[in-house]
Amino acid sequence: MRAAVLHEIGQEKLEVLDDVEAVGFGPGKVKLRIRATGLCHSDVSAMSGVLPQPAPFIPGHEGAGEVVDVGDGVTGLSAGDRVLVCWLPACGDCPSCKRGQTHLCLAGFMNAGTPNFKRPGGDVFGFAGTGTFTEEVVVGAGCAVPIPDDVPFEIAALIGCGVTTGLGAAINTAQVEAGSSVAVIGCGGVGISTIQGARVQGAAQIVAVDPVASRREAALRFGATEAVDPGELADAKQRITGGEGFDYVFEVVGKSATARTAYENTRRGGTLCVVGAGAMDDTFQVNMFELFFDEKRILPSMYGGGDVLRSYERAIALWRAGRIDLESMITHRVRLDGINDALDQMRTGEALRTCIEL
Ligand SMILES: [Zn+2]
Ligand SMILES: [Zn+2]
Repeated sequence: MRAAVLHEIGQEKLEVLDDVEAVGFGPGKVKLRIRATGLCHSDVSAMSGVLPQPAPFIPGHEGAGEVVDVGDGVTGLSAGDRVLVCWLPACGDCPSCKRGQTHLCLAGFMNAGTPNFKRPGGDVFGFAGTGTFTEEVVVGAGCAVPIPDDVPFEIAALIGCGVTTGLGAAINTAQVEAGSSVAVIGCGGVGISTIQGARVQGAAQIVAVDPVASRREAALRFGATEAVDPGELADAKQRITGGEGFDYVFEVVGKSATARTAYENTRRGGTLCVVGAGAMDDTFQVNMFELFFDEKRILPSMYGGGDVLRSYERAIALWRAGRIDLESMITHRVRLDGINDALDQMRTGEALRTCIEL
């Protein structure tokens, strides 16, 4: 079958091959036929080595499709079911799951070290134990979450990562208050979802911050009240907050430099919410005086920071009610052959989300 493979970490292009096989099917597993998958910035970060991932590997973790086959012991799923791919499945049994923080469950990461593809040349890993830039994939049953019939695959795919991450940061983690001031640094798919989450929560001002003009324009369509280049943020802070700083600043880039900018633009007693996925050798620094004296709350938010299945349901409910716009987030569509063009658009910041149809 066809799949897009990265041979070595650090390579910029994927090779679309037709000699890949999905392996590992058995008890507790399901085989999926992927129908749509989004290109998330974490795919690019794993390719470049910012996020840890063994190679060769098949990127993609934001997907949706149909169940082809169900292994022994799997309940609640059968062939033909429409599902989205959850890259962080909850085991239901560990201390994090029992606390309701299923987004912190590490059980699913156990799968990430086991290759779930192979080629004549040898084993191939799937990104984070999934790998959706492919026609078929074998995943743990917890990675396949049924979706209602009215949710198209391309919308379900977005909910599988970017939308859940961004909405959840605003709703679950930061719990943005009605009437508050918000700045969102980094306005790709996750940043746009954060903006939509802040709007749903009733923020009065939402400032989108991004160096790319097309993203700033997009942010305004999704609910930002203004959009500025990073160089204009200090002015916006002065104008909107009287220089005090924003009630909430979301860092959706994953770099210490932008996290520091976010920290400095958060008001005393306000909230810095870190949503971007960064590198292990990139250190964020705060001095002990400011940490104590300014009482800014630093809240990291991984995968929406709450019960993952509940977050999916909420995203679907908000989308159905027309309170969030997911269709317009898909700015590009390609077939698998166009994956390298899509990667380039992601790197230049041109695309909010590219949907790859399989
Ligand atoms: Zn668990
Ligand atoms: Zn992602």
